[in-house]
Amino acid sequence: MAKVSENDSNLWHKTCAERVSAPPLKTDTTVDLVIVGGGFTGLSAALHAAEAGASVCLLEAREIGYGGSGRNVGLANAGLWLPPDDIRAHLGQQAGDRLIVLLAGAPAYVYDLIARHDIACEPVRNGTLHCAHSAAGLADLRNRHAQLAATGAPVALLSAGDTAKRTGSDAFHGALFDPRAGTIQPLGYVRGLARAAQAAGAQIHGNSPVVELSHQDGTWSARTPGGAVRARALIQATNAYHQGLNTHVPAYVPVHYFQYATAPLPDRLRATILPGGEGCWDTALVMSSFRMDAAGRMIIGAMGDLGHFASGIHTAWVRRKLAQLFPVLADQPLQLGWHGRIAMTSDHIPKITRPGPNALAAHGYSGRGIGPGTMFGKGMAEALLSGDESKLPIAPVVDHVERVTGVQQAYFETGATLMHLIKARVGY
Ligand SMILES: Cc1cc2nc3c(=O)[nH]c(=O)nc-3n(C[C@H](O)[C@H](O)[C@H](O)COP(=O)(O)OP(=O)(O)OC[C@H]3O[C@@H](n4cnc5c(N)ncnc54)[C@H](O)[C@@H]3O)c2cc1C
Repeated sequence: MAKVSENDSNLWHKTCAERVSAPPLKTDTTVDLVIVGGGFTGLSAALHAAEAGASVCLLEAREIGYGGSGRNVGLANAGLWLPPDDIRAHLGQQAGDRLIVLLAGAPAYVYDLIARHDIACEPVRNGTLHCAHSAAGLADLRNRHAQLAATGAPVALLSAGDTAKRTGSDAFHGALFDPRAGTIQPLGYVRGLARAAQAAGAQIHGNSPVVELSHQDGTWSARTPGGAVRARALIQATNAYHQGLNTHVPAYVPVHYFQYATAPLPDRLRATILPGGEGCWDTALVMSSFRMDAAGRMIIGAMGDLGHFASGIHTAWVRRKLAQLFPVLADQPLQLGWHGRIAMTSDHIPKITRPGPNALAAHGYSGRGIGPGTMFGKGMAEALLSGDESKLPIAPVVDHVERVTGVQQAYFETGATLMHLIKARVGY
């Protein structure tokens, strides 16, 4: 079993075909828009702002894609975790419908950006399968299918037999197929956005942690150890990996998620396991996911933190889970393992907040950041540059507060650990 650390055992770092040069900031500069955070949100904002003719400087504390964007499963989904009725219940009919329509089109927008900028990120748009792990899971999928179909989404509910044919596993009661979605190599996508933003004129600086943000006389100043950026407008896109600033700290419930990758599978196995290349996750409360990469590695993931004393329970579980789903993979070594932190909000709705005048921040995509991060970054850049907040995907709130997040985090992590321990006792 591979040693697990931050990103040095992360498959996406080993296989990324995109390279981007983002030297640290070493001077003082003045631009129209300064962006803090180099993930999907910040880089989409940088790309769209630079393409609109604004001068842009993005500051990333570590390397591009260091946060959730480079640790992701790579499922480019259409929509949020929540089914449409729940989104409307939280936001109201009109705002809910607007967000549902915007995010329904997000995968098409992402794959179009990938094609337009020739981003090397293994794009496969063959749909996703939300797999029912139980009869109750299938009932949930029936409900989701009805709600999504009512919005005009081209989704299909698959029988257990059809799900077995598509996945190569007979473990599921059925699945919800969404042909709008697909898979990507997430680090390739985020690095490709950075490369495209640079080509459009944006300055992108890695290893440039913003240690102080201030606003005076209509100008923002973002100070890093190497220099400062002054700008009329600010976007903060630090999300679950916010660090080094005690101002405008995003409020969310941290949920950890880990993944392991096998070696590339031989062709005879690739012909039967996910031959159509869909990305999959299941309906279990402590959910798990599986997909293939371009080289034919099986990537399996689940909720849990690999960085604590009981993490061996998660890694032992994932081996059994792989064998349970795909008995032919029981002896496949797991070569690489990595994990990341998801910013969940209690209502599972992402938030746009206001760090101050002419400034916006976004966080809390609750595990759905590829499409939403791309659209929220774009919308925030457009709104700040035009002064027209109707361009935002969702109305901003002055601030967003989550109560007892430490307790909730412990609840999720303990729940995931216990669930994986109990499953060990009952046989998988
Ligand atoms: C394990 C995992 C699996 C996931 N799977 C999926 C999936 O399959 N599909 C999907 O759609 N979503 C998925 N998500 C969610 C998705 O990855 C996130 O929602 C998304 O990456 C958020 O992008 P972001 O740009 O907002 O934040 P991030 O990518 O986290 O970027 C924030 C950046 O800000 C930087 N930063 C922080 N503080 C400072 C500072 N002071 N100065 C400068 N820079 C700073 C950080 O270093 C970081 O790079 C997953 C998340 C995880 C963790």
